[in-house]
Amino acid sequence: MLFKEIKGHKDIKARLIKSVRENRISHAQLFLGAEGSGNLQLAVAYAQYICCLEKGAEDSCGKCSSCLKYNKLAHPDLHFVFPNISKKNYKMPSGVGKDLVTSDDYMFLFREAFFENNFMNLNQWMVFINAENQQGIIKVEDSSDLIKKLSLMTYESAYKITIIWMPEKMKVEAANHLLKIIEEPPANTLFILVAENSDQIINTILSRTQLVKVNRPSDEELIVSVMDEYHYSQEQAAYIVHLSDGNQNEIQTLIKPDEDDDSTTELLKWWRLCYGYQNAKEIGSMLTWVEYQSKMGREKQKNFILYSMHIFRECLMLKYAGQDLVRMNKQELEAFTKFVAMINEENCYGFVDELNKAYYHIERNANPKILFLDLSFKLGKLLRTSSQAK
Ligand SMILES: [Zn+2]
Repeated sequence: MLFKEIKGHKDIKARLIKSVRENRISHAQLFLGAEGSGNLQLAVAYAQYICCLEKGAEDSCGKCSSCLKYNKLAHPDLHFVFPNISKKNYKMPSGVGKDLVTSDDYMFLFREAFFENNFMNLNQWMVFINAENQQGIIKVEDSSDLIKKLSLMTYESAYKITIIWMPEKMKVEAANHLLKIIEEPPANTLFILVAENSDQIINTILSRTQLVKVNRPSDEELIVSVMDEYHYSQEQAAYIVHLSDGNQNEIQTLIKPDEDDDSTTELLKWWRLCYGYQNAKEIGSMLTWVEYQSKMGREKQKNFILYSMHIFRECLMLKYAGQDLVRMNKQELEAFTKFVAMINEENCYGFVDELNKAYYHIERNANPKILFLDLSFKLGKLLRTSSQAK
């Protein structure tokens, strides 16, 4: 990954490049930044720059033998450690069954996930590896495996670099294991920790790293990049950036909804069910819908709630600001124009509030069946307070 592929972060990039050019590379650093800040991207670009054989004043060359391997995240002196789960007899792409125990075993999947979305959060990674309800951790097997690799393997580049993603999930035993090597690393060995929350990192590890604080790029930078990349108007881009609070992971989710799901039809169906659940038949349909939605998996549920918020806001715009400012496609406009009549000043805050709360609880592993049932009843109640509803 090249620095120029990463949005914003002009100062950090300059500082990192300068430290490499002046040969002042600190051997253990913590790239601390919120989800969607681009801290993992920066760590990869920095590692690539350090190892690039033809580095320029502002970026890696992208073409040397080291860069070519980095472009695929497959350099023999680049190691990754990240939360994972143990899987028995996993069917590998080759068809052979293999036990997946360490980050190294998962690397083929991590590369795939990274290139699909390098703003991914831990939850998305867990969904990607089909962890179901298991929690991902960095195990003692991960640190033993890493120490072995760092001590045995010969160099291809000047540095061996280990990127530890989400060290928040490192078990104490794994951390204790790693401490000595982080404290007294073999020559030319670097550790880059990429984390979201320093409070959750084991203190002894934290205290041995140098902090690189990664803020989210500014709204202005993100708005420009959304306009360039997706050909949105400034107004639309600003709306997306604002809605996602500058989280680039969310921006991607908002812009590229899952192509194989028909959220519009599903949402319309849901809101109709919410509105009309008074009779027994409708309650039956509602329960079926809740059952179906509760099996969707957390990421899809979150996206669905985000989509609901987006459509609700657009309906508000349609009602109070007129069609010119509305960002709905033709299908959405047709589907939700009637719904606009059910929104009023009394119910709109409650509606947004309930959706926000639901999103928060899904992220924190609430029981999806109870959550969607409760939410549906609440939304239905709010919709029926509408004086204009027929
Ligand atoms: Zn290069």
